Amino acid sequence: MNNFQYISLPSKIIFGSGAISKTAAEIEALGCKKAFLLSTPFQADDVNKLAHQLDNKRAGVFNNATMHTPTDVTEKALHELENIKADCIVAYGGGSTTGLAKAIAWRTDLPQIIIPTSYAGSEVTPILGQTENGIKTTIKDPKILPEVVIYDPDLTMSLPPKMTMTSGLNAIAHAAEALYAQDRNPVSSLMAIDGIQAMIRSLPIIQGDPQNVEAREDALYGTWLCGTVLGSVGMALHHKLCHVIGGTFDLPHAETHAVILPHAVAFNAAAVPELLRPIADALQTDKPGLGLYNFAKSLNAPTTLKELGMPEDGIDRAAEIVIANPYWNPREMEPKLVRRLIEKAYHGIPPVR
Ligand code: NAD
Repeated sequence: MNNFQYISLPSKIIFGSGAISKTAAEIEALGCKKAFLLSTPFQADDVNKLAHQLDNKRAGVFNNATMHTPTDVTEKALHELENIKADCIVAYGGGSTTGLAKAIAWRTDLPQIIIPTSYAGSEVTPILGQTENGIKTTIKDPKILPEVVIYDPDLTMSLPPKMTMTSGLNAIAHAAEALYAQDRNPVSSLMAIDGIQAMIRSLPIIQGDPQNVEAREDALYGTWLCGTVLGSVGMALHHKLCHVIGGTFDLPHAETHAVILPHAVAFNAAAVPELLRPIADALQTDKPGLGLYNFAKSLNAPTTLKELGMPEDGIDRAAEIVIANPYWNPREMEPKLVRRLIEKAYHGIPPVR
């Protein structure tokens, strides 16, 4: 066994059907009195219902969380916060709402309770991605890590089928890169493998039966594991490609991960096939990249960057940006091969490995 370092991140996880009813008790357990509630406009009705249930433990509601956490939206939320007496944040929604909670917590140090309703995994990471003047920057700080996460699978029943699949593939991407992370450890690898298995088991069941309670529980359990490894070990080529391509061409987050994942895994399978074997095994194949491509296709997830709106002349630009400032990766990022990878993802050509 290789030498390793293991650091566990301090957060309280509450999991189970109906767990949202524990929100008021968790506000109290944090020693807080009144929460500032957050959501996107799309989930305003749901967060208003929660606000109603919290009664005298709510200080206000802001339902304008926006994808990629624009700083001007954060400023507006902070302005509202100034006018109310809130001593904690409750975020209800996907990664965008969690992003706003983190952005506020980073600036104010208020404790956060996150109630995730998608499979993005941001709630268990100390990472904040925010956008200013169209430029996305990433901050890592222990202050950003939410104190409490309430995973209630009932709340994921309403996640639209298409987003369920792409969000689930986004979760797998975190765990896939954790399998070969330079700073991986036995615990992160266990979590990554269990997370991958849970997502690969549950997504096809949810596709056929979106209201299947056990499969929804399984997927949210997988989300926790995949998000946890995203927060605890370093990411590589796949996440670099998604940041560059998603950011440069303003492509949707989960969909970009869904398209790139098979190609990044196939690329790295040439260097570390044994480390990627858990993916191949879970998909009952010996080609993890091709297996993920076929899996995404079977889930009706997008398989081309073209359909997400990336321009074809962006292939060269994206390759140049990735190569100019690469992340550590288990296989050398040769410029010609990286360009070819992006070209294949653009057209949706199945990977060979
Ligand atoms: P999202 O939060 O933007 O959600 C997309 C839409 O789906 C929103 O309108 C949302 O309100 C809606 N939605 C979410 N859950 C729903 C449900 N159960 N029922 C009905 N509608 C629902 O998308 P996302 O993919 O969850 O998150 C993407 C964002 O998260 C990106 O900005 C990404 O950068 C960030 N992210 C950050 C980290 C991190 O560690 N910092 C990790 C993963 C993702």
